[in-house]
Amino acid sequence: MLTLKHPELLRQQAFFAGEWADADAHARFSVHNPANGEVLAHVPLLGEAETLRAIEAARLAWHAWRRQTAATRGKLLMRWHDLMLVHLDDLALLLTSEQGKPLAEARGEVAYAAAYIAWFAEEARRIYGETIPSPVADRQLVVTREPIGVCAAITPWNFPLAMITRKVAPALAAGNPMIVKPAEATPLSALALAQLAQEAGIPGNLLQVITGDPKVIGATLCASEVVRKLSFTGSTAVGKLLYGQCAGSVKKLSLELGGNAPFIVFDDADLDAAVQGAMASKFRNSGQTCVCANRIYVQDAVYDAFVEKLLPAVSALRVGNGTHDGVTAGPLINEAACNKVAEHVQDALQRGAALRLGGERLRGGELAQGHFFAPTVLTEVPADARVTREETFGPLAALVRFRTEEEVIALANDSPFGLASYFYSRDIGRVHRVKEALESGMVGVNTGLISTEVAPFGGMKQSGIGREGGRQGLDEYLVTKYAAVAW
Ligand code: ADP
Repeated sequence: MLTLKHPELLRQQAFFAGEWADADAHARFSVHNPANGEVLAHVPLLGEAETLRAIEAARLAWHAWRRQTAATRGKLLMRWHDLMLVHLDDLALLLTSEQGKPLAEARGEVAYAAAYIAWFAEEARRIYGETIPSPVADRQLVVTREPIGVCAAITPWNFPLAMITRKVAPALAAGNPMIVKPAEATPLSALALAQLAQEAGIPGNLLQVITGDPKVIGATLCASEVVRKLSFTGSTAVGKLLYGQCAGSVKKLSLELGGNAPFIVFDDADLDAAVQGAMASKFRNSGQTCVCANRIYVQDAVYDAFVEKLLPAVSALRVGNGTHDGVTAGPLINEAACNKVAEHVQDALQRGAALRLGGERLRGGELAQGHFFAPTVLTEVPADARVTREETFGPLAALVRFRTEEEVIALANDSPFGLASYFYSRDIGRVHRVKEALESGMVGVNTGLISTEVAPFGGMKQSGIGREGGRQGLDEYLVTKYAAVAW
């Protein structure tokens, strides 16, 4: 069982309408550890009635919160940030237990998630407007940016803390309340965040966390005319559904959906750096991030050398329960995730790829009850294999050979998605040319790690709408008002 230093962080009730509470009908669902199947907790299965109460509570909270000064909002957010760091050990343990990532990665996520709060606490003071020279005399044209109103977030399980703070912090900083519906697999981190927000003194209904039926809660939030903004991170299929459901109330929407990141190694690359970048981009969180390298294109002249350097790096990963010492690759979130990786491996093999490492479910010893897949490397993957078209979301490095810059740019852009892309080159002309040509919202040039709270995260094409983090992240929670003041 989970033993925390601060046991209040393990909440098994939802926080809404001013209190920690259960579902009206007392229905609950269980939260499992993906490393061993252990039941960690039971949380309320809320539905429409409870969601409507949360929306009403948020509406009432909005009026007082929007009138607070930016400095006051920022100060409360900073207290929340500080408490996250005080309780870093507990938050990391909760996160690893329900999500699976190794403790070191979980600790990194706590710090990363907290950094969004600090960033937006500071940005709150910079919600500047402007004045426009009037085309007629005796008149001033004033533009302000105002809080949009009640906001809602539907978040995924792969970053159970960071995907919440990067929505909640800008919403609150801008002067709005937020209702969060966390993923069913990882509600405990979300509830711990709500607990810490309370301890920080953030007024009750500004951050509500409602666990429960995603379809019902999602439909209720989308249909509400009180909810003015929805921010969603998750699968493209659900994102499209929510986009449609928000049409009726013409809600402002942020969508951070699937990716299919190309990772390109040109023949002038620093190969050691490229291997290091590929490891970070491909195998972090066992390949379960939306910016993970999904298709690795390596130029002909350096293909074999890259493979020789990559194989030992992947072999060195230690798969296991993320709370155990020395483990660097945790389980996948569930059995369906393992099956998808297996399907991508099989498909590539049938099309002539070569299996160089891994390729199978791991079930031996202490891994028997968990969802483990061996870190896998496939070479000579044909450019039309499924793994190049669909996001794998697992520990599979699929290496495709290419010949020319022109060819690889066409391959990289031949996707309905455009979230992240990466490439390695030391040619300054090529760096600028390729950066400009790639159709993705984010580009890592000679790096496999791009996420930071200070820069705008988001996609092009069907990878989404809107940006999170950076100064742009605040715009998502503001509306522009223009006033013509005549005298
Ligand atoms: P994944 O396939 O990676 O689990 P999902 O898009 O299914 O991604 O999940 C992301 C979030 O969307 C989760 O919080 C999940 O509960 C929620 N979700 C899933 N289906 C729906 C739905 N029909 N309406 C609203 N939210 C949903």
